Amino acid sequence: MKTIFEKSCGVDGVCLEDCKLGEYIPKELLREDIIGLPQLSELEIMRHYKDLSDRNFCIEKGFYPLGSCTMKYNPKVNEYLASLENFCNLHPYQKDSDSQGALELMYKLQESLKILTGMDAVTLQPAAGAHGELTGMMIIKKYFETKGEFNRKKVIVPDSAHGTNSASAKMCGFDIVEVKSNKKGQVDIDSLKSLLDEDVAAIMMTNPNTLGIFEENVLEISKLLHSNGSLLYYDGANFNAIMGWTNPRLMGFDVVHINLHKTFSTPHGGGGPGAGPVCVVEKLKEFLPVPVITYENGIYKRNYDVANSIGKVRGFYGNFGILVRAYAYILMMGNNLKLASADAVLNANYIKEKLKGVYELPFDEPCMHEFVLSGEKQHHQGVNTLGIAKRLMDSNYHPPTVYFPLIVHEAIMIEPTESERKQVLDGFIETMLKIAHEIEECPEEVLKSPKTTPIKKVNETLAARKPDLVFKE
Ligand SMILES: *Cc1c(COP(=O)(O)O)cnc(C)c1O
Repeated sequence: MKTIFEKSCGVDGVCLEDCKLGEYIPKELLREDIIGLPQLSELEIMRHYKDLSDRNFCIEKGFYPLGSCTMKYNPKVNEYLASLENFCNLHPYQKDSDSQGALELMYKLQESLKILTGMDAVTLQPAAGAHGELTGMMIIKKYFETKGEFNRKKVIVPDSAHGTNSASAKMCGFDIVEVKSNKKGQVDIDSLKSLLDEDVAAIMMTNPNTLGIFEENVLEISKLLHSNGSLLYYDGANFNAIMGWTNPRLMGFDVVHINLHKTFSTPHGGGGPGAGPVCVVEKLKEFLPVPVITYENGIYKRNYDVANSIGKVRGFYGNFGILVRAYAYILMMGNNLKLASADAVLNANYIKEKLKGVYELPFDEPCMHEFVLSGEKQHHQGVNTLGIAKRLMDSNYHPPTVYFPLIVHEAIMIEPTESERKQVLDGFIETMLKIAHEIEECPEEVLKSPKTTPIKKVNETLAARKPDLVFKE
């Protein structure tokens, strides 16, 4: 045994010398060959990761107008509060009586989300928006099963929807029915009417939708669905557009998810952790995942006694550290959340008005917090949307979301958020106009971008299929 460890230990690496593994692990499971891990000192490892972090792009480095993702600035006070010892060292199995502060925070976050969404009850468990969708669809399924309406197998999803909507519904066993958008980029009411029958369980909608356009017929839609005995699911990814101005309850929705990592300034990207709380109307409360956080007689509790709960959807109680950050943001902003939405909408409209004409704007409507251009004209001149995105990187901009939503050719989806001042928006506008001009003059040159990034143009197919992740000295 010992010789294997001796062999695998380099001069600088850490060695588990006197470890008596053989006493605890069956012989046939013990490794016989040298493990072959790189042998590096702490300093070398630190340099490696620092180098990687320097290559990374983040909002602290520059403008990040990634549509649909709400890459707003995450205030650093959130990090400070989440790292307080009594929050981050609390064990999830600690008794309720020992965890009153943490439970209070969760309860109060639930209450804040109830006010913001207009809903009656909340679970904080889901770990992301897509996970919230799955949770919400499980609730809807159980609701109809409890009523004995097993026929309700269909879920209507607009053709502009995020791919997770249909995926989540499908995972719950629903059949997806697509409803078309009309010329204004909104759900087409006549098409919707033709799809409604007694088998429809729900519609999943995003409002403002993924084109950044407010669905002006949403009240008619909710009336149509409800009189059909169906429910309405609200994908809250675009909640940053409406905070304090309206809410999904007023629009007639029954189930809502909120992406805390989008709207409520918690870290985002790189796979998480995030949080996708789900808020429901009174009649769906009995289906929420357990435990729900309650407050009675001055005591906060994790309550497992929920009549028709769909069960647990996540280990423990969700990503608690993310909940701390989101609650800190909500407390800090207070009524100014309304102004954040207003600024997000103003910023998006400002950029839209300056770029339309040079780039095609397929749905020329006042937008909410984001809008979608088409790079069709530039594509004909020799540079597609991907090329424009790469060119932007040379001016230290994170590219916008591209090729989504699917109903816009060569889509360029821009969401500036409220975090940026006018000078930054002007700089971005100027760069977008410059790129359009370069494409007219000399498209070949534009196609050489990115030139300034640590990694230049990659073969994206190969990079996805055969990623090279091996450490190299
Ligand atoms: C981001 C997003 C989702 C999915 O949310 P995640 O938190 O990334 O899982 C769903 N719908 C829309 C419109 C989104 O922008």
